[in-house]
Amino acid sequence: SPQDEWTRSDLYHNSFLIPHDDSLEFAKKNSDDSGLPSIAVTAAQGKLLNLIARSVNAKRILEVGTLGGYSTIWLARALPDDGLLISAELHQKHADVARENLIRAGQSSKVQIIVGNAVETLSNLHPEQPFDLAFVDADKPNNLTYFIEAKRTVKKGGVIIVDNVVREGLVADTSNDEPSSKGVRKLLEYLKDDKDVDATTIATVGEKGYDGFLYAVVN
Ligand code: SAM
Repeated sequence: SPQDEWTRSDLYHNSFLIPHDDSLEFAKKNSDDSGLPSIAVTAAQGKLLNLIARSVNAKRILEVGTLGGYSTIWLARALPDDGLLISAELHQKHADVARENLIRAGQSSKVQIIVGNAVETLSNLHPEQPFDLAFVDADKPNNLTYFIEAKRTVKKGGVIIVDNVVREGLVADTSNDEPSSKGVRKLLEYLKDDKDVDATTIATVGEKGYDGFLYAVVN
């Protein structure tokens, strides 16, 4: 099947580019064993997030949607020792598992997880220094709200990345009214006339199927 080929391809490339990593393997297994859904980014995507954070010399990162902290670990590793990552997560249980995984990965001191509805968490966020990078990966119907809050708190020239914006092509099938796809369309319609950012969608295929990242730079 196409999915088998995509998985084989990811694993082939990863075998050259992404060494085995005990902390990330622990994070995955601990998340699975704790009953968290398997909806973290792939290793290749996690590493891309890490490389982007390093490319923009990120000192402060905002994440929306922590789950078990898999993407959080990749992002936190890009930060200097005095860097800060704030991650918003609805479920206390997810935050607890993420905390264990971050401790195991030696990244705990850089990461603050705020438990609650990210709509409220972000509206209450008034960071002393703006973020260099935001990664939005929570409930998709609220994508636009999160994007607007990210714009407010990310510096000019900073980067906002939104995950799952292609959804196996469902987003482009406007007859499909899945709430997550509708949430992505709402964001795209907003971006059409938004002068505050320049953005593009890059589709991704791999272990987690056919999807995509939206990548935006704040003007
Ligand atoms: N970024 C994670 C990774 O790649 O490892 C995956 C995040 S998972 C796709 C989405 C997370 O968003 C879940 O843990 C879910 O509980 C959380 N979430 C859902 N609705 C939320 C809300 N309203 N506020 C904050 N977090 C929410």
